[in-house]
Amino acid sequence: MKRMRCAYLGVLLPMLAVAQLPVPKPEIPVEKWTGKTVMFIGAHADDDMYSHGTMAMLQAHGNQVYVVTLTTGNVGTQDPNLSRTQLAQIRRQEELAALAELGIPGDHYINLGYDDGLLEFEDRKAVVENLVRWIRKLRPDVLMAWDPGKNYQRWHKSDHRAAAYLSADAARAAMWRLLFEGQITQEGLKEFMIPEYLLYNDSDHEDENLWVDISDFVEKKVNADAKYVSQFGPGWKNYKPILSESELKQMKDDRRAHVRMKDGKPFEGFRYYKGLPDSLGK
Ligand SMILES: [Zn+2]
Repeated sequence: MKRMRCAYLGVLLPMLAVAQLPVPKPEIPVEKWTGKTVMFIGAHADDDMYSHGTMAMLQAHGNQVYVVTLTTGNVGTQDPNLSRTQLAQIRRQEELAALAELGIPGDHYINLGYDDGLLEFEDRKAVVENLVRWIRKLRPDVLMAWDPGKNYQRWHKSDHRAAAYLSADAARAAMWRLLFEGQITQEGLKEFMIPEYLLYNDSDHEDENLWVDISDFVEKKVNADAKYVSQFGPGWKNYKPILSESELKQMKDDRRAHVRMKDGKPFEGFRYYKGLPDSLGK
């Protein structure tokens, strides 16, 4: 009997240990955050689309949301008549228009100017140094970035996977005084550790552990999404700056249909992480 009880505990104890693992959760719900600086990093104008409801809410609640986009988006089109220069200009205008719908000021948009489609072939050290500079300038309380994966390397399409790892690597590097120390000795910046993360994905949501209620911000999200005329709707194949009323309605209806619902409420999902950037993939 004694032997059986020991065996039973031997099975039970590890189960209890697993059951007691804390689920990462912000001390204050995201819906009540205020006074925070939030930095978003994406590869393209429109990568922030998956988080537009949350970003609109944060900005409306007295947080400062900054959007850093790594590439100019100067490649992704099916329109045979657009040049890279034209497309980069269009993508910038669309992003600024989308952010305006969310209440985010134009000077909160920072484009780092890399070429679309080839981000992973850039000099990684130079890109990380660039991102570290912005992290040390903005000193965000929260970083929103493509999720690099939890205990594995998540597959994203090319620029997205580069952006995921570059963001994680930059978050880590920013906290070490002796990395890119010229920014500290010559540029007046200081090392900085980002404490909290909202990591996003486009289609695979299995690692999500935080769901933000965006009930009051769906229309802002839909209106902002509808600004990406060159990426969705008729503009993808044959770009024109102004859509007809019916085309715009169609685009908004389509974007509204993409809003995720849980328990009858619209939401956006993230993998929340708090702690040392060294472990943000765990
Ligand atoms: Zn993208």
